[in-house]
Amino acid sequence: PPLGEELLQVTELQKSFRGVRAIDGVSLSVRRGEVLGVIGPNGSGKTTLFNCLSGHLSPDAGRVLLRGTDVTDKSMDAIARQGLVRTFQHPLSFRSKTVASSVELALGVSAGRARSEAAATGIPDQAGALLAFCGIGDVAQRPVSALSYGHSRLLGVALALAARPEVLMLDEPAAGLNHVESAALAALLARVCRAGITLIVIDHDMAFLMPLCDRLLVLDAGTLIAQGPPEQVRMDPRVAAVYLGG
Ligand code: ADP
Repeated sequence: PPLGEELLQVTELQKSFRGVRAIDGVSLSVRRGEVLGVIGPNGSGKTTLFNCLSGHLSPDAGRVLLRGTDVTDKSMDAIARQGLVRTFQHPLSFRSKTVASSVELALGVSAGRARSEAAATGIPDQAGALLAFCGIGDVAQRPVSALSYGHSRLLGVALALAARPEVLMLDEPAAGLNHVESAALAALLARVCRAGITLIVIDHDMAFLMPLCDRLLVLDAGTLIAQGPPEQVRMDPRVAAVYLGG
């Protein structure tokens, strides 16, 4: 489908830790329906960029606009309510629950946010549909703690989707997954994209990101050194130099 309007606009973002510039003047924009990949070597600022967008960190300078609304320095919860949500890396707080009840709880929280009783009804059905969509319908009654690594990663996506994001951000979603698990995750992310949700994905694994993304951004030492279609970025000599340690 054609890409929509600019959903996220980031201008001149900066964040330092004890004098070290982790993010040094990054500007970017993301259109509705786009799948944006963010790559870069260790320590290049990928996670810090995510943390500044999601409200986990407050940037030192720069602006983050979501649908034209300034969300810079807003809380994580406020930003999530505005539609920008990141995956739960470790859904630890849900470990003693079943997969189905943890998703029901997450759907209930987001229905509660909407303050609508009507939205809270039908939650078990919605949870079932969401788990099926995420490919984990058959483990719905298992405790979260009993899930395989691959299934718990899919559950992480389901829990994030329960918040009804417009933009879903994933930080190294394929890390530690085997080939089968990583293919299942890539297929899910393609379905999420087709459902109209905009994706921003950080990963080291170019092979995972290449087929998934419309556009790749490359960070090095806190600055954007390249961006464009994956094939073009892969051929960029600056990117090769960074990745080969040149
Ligand atoms: P990446 O995700 O690309 O590996 P990070 O955003 O984690 O990069 O880190 C960027 C830089 O900021 C690194 O030099 C890292 O050591 C530093 N950094 C990140 N988080 C912190 C923190 N909480 N305190 C101090 N330094 C940090």
